[in-house]
Amino acid sequence: MNDTENLILIHYHEIGLKGKNRGRFERQLQSNINRALKGLSRGPVQRLYGRIILKLKPDSPIGVIRDRLTGISGIANFSEAIRVPKEIEIIRETAWAVAQKATFESFRITTKRGDKSFPMLSEEVNRDVGAYIQERLNARVQLVGPDLTCYIEITQEDVFIYAEKVSGPGGLPVGTGERALSLLSSGLDSPVASYKMIKRGVRLSFVHFHSQPYTNRNSQRNTEELVRLLTQYQFKSTLYLVPFVEIQRHIMRNAPENYRVILYRRFMFRIAETQANQEGALALVTGESVGQVASQTLANIKAIEEVTLLPVLRPLAGDNKDEIIDEARRIGTYDISIEPYEDCCSVFVPKHPETRADLEKVHKIEAELELDEILRQTLRQTEVKTFKL
Ligand code: ATP
Ligand code: MG
Repeated sequence: MNDTENLILIHYHEIGLKGKNRGRFERQLQSNINRALKGLSRGPVQRLYGRIILKLKPDSPIGVIRDRLTGISGIANFSEAIRVPKEIEIIRETAWAVAQKATFESFRITTKRGDKSFPMLSEEVNRDVGAYIQERLNARVQLVGPDLTCYIEITQEDVFIYAEKVSGPGGLPVGTGERALSLLSSGLDSPVASYKMIKRGVRLSFVHFHSQPYTNRNSQRNTEELVRLLTQYQFKSTLYLVPFVEIQRHIMRNAPENYRVILYRRFMFRIAETQANQEGALALVTGESVGQVASQTLANIKAIEEVTLLPVLRPLAGDNKDEIIDEARRIGTYDISIEPYEDCCSVFVPKHPETRADLEKVHKIEAELELDEILRQTLRQTEVKTFKL
């Protein structure tokens, strides 16, 4: 190459640790970036020495591109960078030009020398370019906590220069992991739990239990909106809408009040397991957080989980409510979750739910229920919706 070039330089971590899988992870991330940027004016996305570069066009909408990249799991950080040839004169000039765009009093140069044959050591480049900038701009070098850090990455072929790093979500690219089925209410917790699993590369389907016509359609509408939002992070989603009211009604008539919630949940898990098995999902995901509400004591979690052989992932198990709320705000689910809705469980919730489920008692109550036919019917009446980015 003979000229300088504007592009976006994308870094990932973790992927580097994946040994033989590395190529697959990189290709998945590359393809996810392409999908997320569909329809925008831009150049190709290329893999290059443990980085990904996105070439830009003069009319590329930088703001939109930055927004989209911020949500792609697997990206540790990215920068608007300039690519130049490996010549110290050009490196100096470019670093100076990059620095000039910012307002700062103190700065440092951080050089990463990936190409060990480059004739100057990292420290020498730092000092050379630092001195050049200091002479021309009224700024001082400060190694710890400077206003501006100018990064110089020297690779086998070119040099990348940039002064700002934007954080991505980190984690692993969606599509590199396996599938799981997430139990999604329209509350605050389960969307955040879902996001955390997507961030780990797991592709999710969703199941929502509703109690229509006893509740209004808001829980369903909110849930669909949440799935639409979460689909931004994984490109494609399936949502199962399960009519739960007949099961609830039967439980209400035939089980002691304090055990109702536990029984509802056991049936939710059974139905979810059937759907998970049908589509090859290897785990269930819930938004449970230990001790948050009566049904989330360890004794009750044990009594509920007993009905499924699938592992149940609870990414929020150890989180506090305020931490969950912060995350919900960050990923954009908060405003949808706090919309008023009638939850299937809040409508039929007893005043004094059991906090210490006794398994023997649960078994005895269940043995009296006649839900086989209702369960089959419920599965038959389940509605399936797909969402695409
Ligand atoms: P959330 O904020 O996610 O609604 P919660 O604090 O209200 O959770 P619970 O009502 O005990 O807690 O529900 C625990 C978990 O069970 C939820 O996080 C979700 O994964 C699942 N769940 C509860 N209700 C439903 C529902 N109607 N449809 C699907 N999953 C549900
Ligand atoms: Mg809830």
